[in-house]
Amino acid sequence: MKSLIFDCDGVLVDTERDGHRVAFNRAFQQKGLDIEWDVPLYGELLKIAGGKERMRHYFDERGWPPEAADHDEFLLQLHKIKTDLFMQIIEDGLLPLRPGVKRLVDEAIVDGMPLAVCSTSNERAVTQVVRTLLGPIRREKFLILAGDAASKKKPDPEIYLLAKKHLGLDGGDCMVIEDSRNGLLAAKAAGMRCVITKSSYTQEEDFREADAVFSELGDAPAIQVTLEALKKIAAAS
Ligand SMILES: [Mg+2]
Repeated sequence: MKSLIFDCDGVLVDTERDGHRVAFNRAFQQKGLDIEWDVPLYGELLKIAGGKERMRHYFDERGWPPEAADHDEFLLQLHKIKTDLFMQIIEDGLLPLRPGVKRLVDEAIVDGMPLAVCSTSNERAVTQVVRTLLGPIRREKFLILAGDAASKKKPDPEIYLLAKKHLGLDGGDCMVIEDSRNGLLAAKAAGMRCVITKSSYTQEEDFREADAVFSELGDAPAIQVTLEALKKIAAAS
């Protein structure tokens, strides 16, 4: 194991639960709508891909507010507010890091192990998460590949193949931490080892190809994943 690579959404932060869901709720509030998407309801709504489509589905089922005469225009406005609020949440550092992320990153830095974040989400958001939540000193240790760096989203391995090239390593040298089946398939298709930390909305996904599965990285006294443990997993598989 010569490099440790993190996915961003669901691994560094629980983006859907603590970021997007919260931003939708604040957007509803700003528009004067009495709507609150709680954690279980948002889990159901996540089956609908795309923010505007998700809201459309919700209003179709529960009824449209009287001010939404033009549905498309209403959704467009609401979605713009939501997107701005989401970036604000990230930039204000209000999205909490998942337990154990900072600890494991520090273990890798002490060990001198190269670090990367590979995400097919918006590059500005990913860079902000790393810089704001991990701090500028740790951020300097990371190779960040995100957004338009890859033309195809996970489960396509493109972003991980790109990481191998940048790091000058073989797939077998890299240990990836992912939270979703799509991420796992991308890492595996790039020949990398992959450990899962399940996130709020990936609990039920199929992780049979993973080298190990955990509920979180964990902080003391409930540490689940150390750098030493990852090295052992890499050596054994
Ligand atoms: Mg993810």
